Amino acid sequence: MELYEQFQSMIKKRKAYQYVLNVVGWDSNTEAPDEAFKRRAEMLGIINQELFQMQTSEAYKDVVNGLYKQIDDLEDLQAREVKKAKKALDKIVKIPEDEFIEYGKLIQLSQKKWEHAKENNDWDGFKDNLAKIVDFNRRFVDYYEFDMLPYDVLLDDYEEGWTMKDFDEFFDVLRAELVPFVKEVLDSGKSLHKDFIDMSYDTDKQKEFCTYLMDVFSFDQSRGVMKESVHPFTWNTHPSDVRFTTRYLENYVFSSIFAAIHEIGHATYEQQIDETWNDTLLNGGTSMGIHESQSRFYENIIGRSKAFWETHLTSLKSHFPEQLKDVSVQSFYEAINKVEASYIRVEADELTYPLHIMLRYEIEKQLFAREIEVDDLPEIWNKKMEEYLGITPKDDSEGVLQDVHWSAGLLGYFPTYALGSAYAAQFYYKMAEELDIDELIKQDKIDVINQWFKEKIHQYGSSKSPKELLEAVTGEEFNPMYYVRFLKEKYSDLYL
Ligand code: ZN
Repeated sequence: MELYEQFQSMIKKRKAYQYVLNVVGWDSNTEAPDEAFKRRAEMLGIINQELFQMQTSEAYKDVVNGLYKQIDDLEDLQAREVKKAKKALDKIVKIPEDEFIEYGKLIQLSQKKWEHAKENNDWDGFKDNLAKIVDFNRRFVDYYEFDMLPYDVLLDDYEEGWTMKDFDEFFDVLRAELVPFVKEVLDSGKSLHKDFIDMSYDTDKQKEFCTYLMDVFSFDQSRGVMKESVHPFTWNTHPSDVRFTTRYLENYVFSSIFAAIHEIGHATYEQQIDETWNDTLLNGGTSMGIHESQSRFYENIIGRSKAFWETHLTSLKSHFPEQLKDVSVQSFYEAINKVEASYIRVEADELTYPLHIMLRYEIEKQLFAREIEVDDLPEIWNKKMEEYLGITPKDDSEGVLQDVHWSAGLLGYFPTYALGSAYAAQFYYKMAEELDIDELIKQDKIDVINQWFKEKIHQYGSSKSPKELLEAVTGEEFNPMYYVRFLKEKYSDLYL
């Protein structure tokens, strides 16, 4: 069809611009010197403007709207692409241009404000920016006229097809099952803390071990690289170029190890996507939740298993013979799964982590239902911390100010983190029907697990929605009880 071919060539050109911007983005986060930033911002501004014009040009609008009118005549996957394009287009063109520009500026400024506020425990210095960000987003969803509740519009951005109704059911289960279970674990009086956790670990040696981990996970280094950055992340343009970072902290060796394994999970997903999607809008992982299911499967289900360290502790010991001299596999396994009521989400353990997310979800939901306002957040935050984890932050820096997301306008994103872990558990029990997972991990055959994920999930890119994918893989709808079961089995064994 002629119109669809026009669409394809427009998308390809846009991808070329995005490709260049992506590569520069990687460079900014890993290599570029501090003083490069000003000139780079100027140059990128021009490229970004070109890209914006392409996405909003009359020609592009005509093609997308034209295709949308005949959507019933398109093949399924073409229709899926056109729907995506139409939704993205509506989001840009329905917002008045001056507001769009003003919001962009606000986000830029808010990043710095937030950094400063967090460092100085200065909620008052940030709250007006946050109130404006929330207001803009409340207005934007009205402009879209999507016939959905406001917060549902935002949730769908990160997890297609997921609404408050779905997330409420999910978090209701977690609240009922995990809050009392976490309390039981914390009240058990058992401590899994070990002295070797706090020792000093040479960062060059840590890097050697992370390089070893790439081999353990069969990460294809001819199509990927590992570097270092303050906040670990995965970056990609297409399956043949997938890069990730980890970070090395001398006083916390677990940080580099588990950040590397987590990012290898994201990176393996991207590497194993079929190249046929490259020139379409169906490239890349299908949703934040499914992406996070892969990173958390690798990090928690494989990386924090006893089986994994039965095979690989010897190698870690060879890098750190002094620190780990008398450490047994059991003792190491306990140390990496230590549970604590803690204030900071990114430092939380596997068990308490979803409660940190539940709190954020509930707050966002109330904000967009207009039941609360930004002014109320510190108090609500602290009350919920007390309710779910039994602790109260001493100040806003370790409370409501801790995360970067809201300052960047990322509203509706948080719940996908918990959802990812729950998806991972559901995949795990399905995989266990077909593979002896522990045995594969022990025998250093993680490539078999990679292959399972490639066949069932990775190859499809975003040609299937998260719900379609989950049902195709497991034969069931989403069921949070797998996640509860996984956590209860593992942590009862460790603590009770
Ligand atoms: Zn992640």
